Amino acid sequence: MQVKILGSAAGGGFPQWNCACSNCRRVREGSFHGKPRTQAQVAWSVEPNQWTLLNASPDLREQIEATPELHPRDGRKSPITEVILTGAEVDQALGLLLLREFHSFRVHATTAVRQILNEDNSLFGSLRRFPNQTCWNDIPLGRPFTAGGAHLKAIPLGGGFPGFVNGARADSADPAEASIGLLISPVAFDPPGYQDRTLAFLPGIGRIGGPFLERLKSCDVVLFDGTFWSDEEPTRIPGITRSARQMGHLPVGGPGGSLELLRSLNGTRKIYIHVNNTNPMLDESSVEHRAVRDAGWEVAYDGMEFSL
Ligand SMILES: [Zn+2]
Repeated sequence: MQVKILGSAAGGGFPQWNCACSNCRRVREGSFHGKPRTQAQVAWSVEPNQWTLLNASPDLREQIEATPELHPRDGRKSPITEVILTGAEVDQALGLLLLREFHSFRVHATTAVRQILNEDNSLFGSLRRFPNQTCWNDIPLGRPFTAGGAHLKAIPLGGGFPGFVNGARADSADPAEASIGLLISPVAFDPPGYQDRTLAFLPGIGRIGGPFLERLKSCDVVLFDGTFWSDEEPTRIPGITRSARQMGHLPVGGPGGSLELLRSLNGTRKIYIHVNNTNPMLDESSVEHRAVRDAGWEVAYDGMEFSL
C-alpha cells in the first residue's frame, strides 16, 4: 500500500492568503526556515493505477498536477476512483467539486456528512449531472468497511458539525457522525488482535483516551493532529475566540499536549499533519521544531510518501 501526502497544512494553507503572521510573512519574504504547504490531503493506492483520496482539499487541483501518479493516462480517465470524507468542513470536502468534469467516482462518508453535502447543499448537484457520476456509500460506525482496496475502521472523534450546517440537520443528525478518524490497512483486521500494517489517520482530534492510545501502539504509522502548538494559539488570531481544544484540536506542546500524551508510542512512526500556518514548529530553526524531532516525531510536508 503506497501512501502519499499531497498537502500537509491546516485549512487556509501555508502561507494563508489573508494572513501576515510571523510565519506567513517570512515565507513570502523568503527568510523562513521551512516549507510552504498546501491544505491537508492524503492519497493511497493498493491496486495499480487506482488511487483513493482521504478527504478532498480546496487545493486538490494543484495537488493532482504535482503528483504524476494521479495524472490521467488515457483520454479523460483519472486514476482517482474513490474519496473518503472524514467530515463536512470546507477544507475536507470542497475539492469534491473540483472532480466534477464528467468523471465517475465513489464517495464514502458518514450518513450525516452525506446528507449535509449531497442532500442539503444544492452546489453538490454538480456531481449528479449524469447517471452514476458519484456513488455515495455510508460509512458504518463500529464495524470495519472496505474502500479503495483497503480495510478501514471509523473512529468517532466527537466535536460538532460545521457552522454552515442548518439547524434542523445539526439537531437531528448523530453527533458521532460529525468527525471521524480512520484506521486503514491493506489487509483485513480479522482475526481479532491482528496488529500489523495499519495507518491511523487522525488530523483533527481533541482528546485521546487510554484504550485508544493502546490501539495506536499497534499501528505502523500515525498521521496525527499537528494543527496548533499551544492551546491559546488560535485565540491570537483575529476573529477566533476558542482555544485549540475547544476547536477539537489537541495542541502539540504544553502540559497534556500530544508530545507528552503520546510519548509512550515508541514503535510507531509518528507524523504531524494538518499544521496551521501559525504553528511555530513549521520553522525548522525553532525550539518547537527541535522538540518535535527530539521526541521522535516528523512533520509532514507536501510530497512525503511511505509504504505499508
Ligand atoms: Zn499565518
